[in-house]
Amino acid sequence: MIYDNHNRPITYLRLAVTDRCNLRCFYCMPEEGIRYLPKQQVLTYEEMERLVRVLARLGVSKVRITGGEPFVRVGLMPFLHRLSETPGLTDISLTTNGVLTAPHVSDLAKLGVKSVNLSIDTLDRERFHKITRRDELPAVLNTLDALLSAGITTKLNAVVMDGQNIDDLVPLTELTRHLPVDVRFIEEMPFNGEGSHYPVLYWTHTRIVDHLRAHFPELTKLPDSPFSTSAGYQIPGHQGTVGIIAAFSRTFCGTCNRIRLTAQGTLKTCLYDDGVLDVRELLRRGDTDEQLTAAFLRAFAHRPATGFDAEQNRTTVTESMATIGG
Ligand code: SAM
Ligand code: SF4
Repeated sequence: MIYDNHNRPITYLRLAVTDRCNLRCFYCMPEEGIRYLPKQQVLTYEEMERLVRVLARLGVSKVRITGGEPFVRVGLMPFLHRLSETPGLTDISLTTNGVLTAPHVSDLAKLGVKSVNLSIDTLDRERFHKITRRDELPAVLNTLDALLSAGITTKLNAVVMDGQNIDDLVPLTELTRHLPVDVRFIEEMPFNGEGSHYPVLYWTHTRIVDHLRAHFPELTKLPDSPFSTSAGYQIPGHQGTVGIIAAFSRTFCGTCNRIRLTAQGTLKTCLYDDGVLDVRELLRRGDTDEQLTAAFLRAFAHRPATGFDAEQNRTTVTESMATIGG
């Protein structure tokens, strides 16, 4: 196990397999004018497999596949299959918008994919269309059904957006009454490809909890799980749970065990940093596994303590979450 300079173990990699997407969620990317990476700048599956092998030898045991939308990249399922054979890797999970996912769910279950995070900000078709700029809610709901039928642990991600989906907070929470899902409300972060929408974040963790408590007075805080970014809550008698991810308030940095690799092979040791290592460059100039390992270890020895520290050195303020992977 490798520990960073703040004594936090590094065990969790979030791997963006593409920056491309079939939705245009307004909090993530602009509607038009997106400049996707040229194909040759995106890591190949073979390169990603090698990096995961190197990181698994350093103690990374969990990989979450994200993007962009992972299922828009051709060859994703065979890649996951090969990845599942990586020695030391015990948990492969996925974050998806659910538009193309349903037909693959039974194969994901066979592969042993532990959990899927499905992004769904609203249960209202018109609002979904407005937020994502695509009319795809029925496909996403289909994926939700398929995941639950396959017995895959399912978390629903909803970004909380002032003036957009506040009326959905209660209906989304209501899903936990009869479904074994974890509905997670995420504070909006300023990674929409254009800069922040709001000068100050109105829907903070505290405000979201207050809003939910007004409708569900019995909402009870659950004990914190180690390394989780989500603060858990439950309503007595409900099958599922509610989580709140203080992604903007950043109250979880003290136990952060995660690193990120973007689709172009940039290592981020904090969600709010600018990228600390061009791993693609090292791969393509022919570095050995030992050299890659040494480069990773150097980066882990210089992690910022918090997202606020990382942000101070940040120059890119117009980054899209689709290039970071969430
Ligand atoms: N396309 C997939 C999806 O939407 O699930 C995976 C990539 S997406 C970037 C990963 C997660 O980041 C999603 O749950 C999405 O809602 C969240 N996200 C995107 N932009 C965000 C933002 N500006 N603030 C907070 N969460 C955001
Ligand atoms: Fe695509 Fe996911 Fe970004 Fe929405 S949040 S635009 S689905 S990458």
